[in-house]
Amino acid sequence: MNDYDIAIVGGGLVGASLAVALANTPLRVILIEASVPPAMLPSWDERCIALNDATQRIFSDYGIWSALAADAEPITATHISEQGRFGTTRFSADEAGLPALGYNVPLRAIGTALMNTLGTLPNVRRLCPGRVTGIATDARRAQLTVEIDGATQVITAGLVAAADGAQSALRGLLGISAEVRDYAQHAIVSAVQLSRPHQGVAYERFTPDGPLALIPKPGNSASLVWTTPAAAVETRLAWSDAEYLAAAQSSFGGRLGRFTALGARRAYPLARVMSEQLTAPRTVLIGNAAQSLHPVAAQGFNLGLRDVAALAEALTGGADPGAAAVLDRYEAARQRDRSRVGNLTDTMVRTFSNRIPGLTQLRHLGLIAVDLLPPLRAAVLRQHLGHLGLPSRLRQTQLAPAVVEVEE
Ligand SMILES: Cc1cc2nc3c(=O)[nH]c(=O)nc-3n(C[C@H](O)[C@H](O)[C@H](O)COP(=O)(O)OP(=O)(O)OC[C@H]3O[C@@H](n4cnc5c(N)ncnc54)[C@H](O)[C@@H]3O)c2cc1C
Repeated sequence: MNDYDIAIVGGGLVGASLAVALANTPLRVILIEASVPPAMLPSWDERCIALNDATQRIFSDYGIWSALAADAEPITATHISEQGRFGTTRFSADEAGLPALGYNVPLRAIGTALMNTLGTLPNVRRLCPGRVTGIATDARRAQLTVEIDGATQVITAGLVAAADGAQSALRGLLGISAEVRDYAQHAIVSAVQLSRPHQGVAYERFTPDGPLALIPKPGNSASLVWTTPAAAVETRLAWSDAEYLAAAQSSFGGRLGRFTALGARRAYPLARVMSEQLTAPRTVLIGNAAQSLHPVAAQGFNLGLRDVAALAEALTGGADPGAAAVLDRYEAARQRDRSRVGNLTDTMVRTFSNRIPGLTQLRHLGLIAVDLLPPLRAAVLRQHLGHLGLPSRLRQTQLAPAVVEVEE
């Protein structure tokens, strides 16, 4: 009984979301995760991540949002600025005609909601720990070799969804290459206590070292994501809390009053990894296995969840989940969104982390243009909300006219 319609390799946020998306379908699904329980979702840590409006719609559709809402801090505006220059851009939920542009949610809450739902799904089997070490395909099935407690098992499936993260073993086993850009930066993430209320505003401030983001959390606190050159990471981690707070404050400025207390710091190395292909025979890549991005503008999981939504949609109605037509539908639905978001985040990082004088003027003009040109502003806002890659079924919106009028 080791044959399934779909085998999902990787039970992180994206793989687990796909399993939930396939609830209420006739598909027999297995979710295979390498790490040892109870850490079914090793991407869990004490981080919060910003979920945009599109993600909120997708999670609502999957019945997950109601379990997250109590832990979700609304982001009612975003404020974008550059250290050392006047001129800012601000987007608000009001101009989008929405209650919030997005929500800042603890990873642990998302993981718990996904796991609780998975536990109720009769068509999904969870295999954890199980590490996929081989894949072979023929005209009818994919065959996975899985190591479980030192023994080897073979699992077959009509379709394999590789959700095994940025270093995807499956991508390597299938011979799919990936374009890797090491940013030589880390994001140091921590919570910070503020002396002034954040009023739901998320801040993205570009500094010569890289972007610094403050994303609202409940109470008077925020997630502080401070991009740091690789050479300075150890030093910044070794600083006392007071030293760290003072340095972060001097980069961010005084908009939120004083930073008064700091949570634990954790550093994440940053690279962009773009898979050259999204599909191979009887296989699709989703989430970080397909593309792993710099966290600037908080796009990574939001984009991965749109992979999930597109795949779930491509799977409806067909008898063979791994048929070439399904793979083609998935690829066609995802190419544009992923390359647009991949390029956007990369351009933001490279343009703003640069002191070349001409570029300084250009990016300043860019911020002004976004502020002054309504069509450009609307396009940026739609991107921000995640609507450009949302399956059409979930696109009905109550967006303000300025935002709706710019169609692709
Ligand atoms: C500092 C930082 C801040 C971020 N902030 C945001 C944000 O605000 N908003 C946002 O949308 N995104 C954000 N992201 C991005 C987001 O965290 C990722 O896009 C997301 O977690 C990727 O999930 P995933 O499931 O694709 O991959 P992963 O979380 O890497 O999961 C892959 C899973 O596959 C398993 N696995 C690996 N190999 C095998 C194998 N051979 N067999 C079986 N299982 C295997 C692993 O154990 C793991 O559980 C941020 C990222 C960083 C680093």
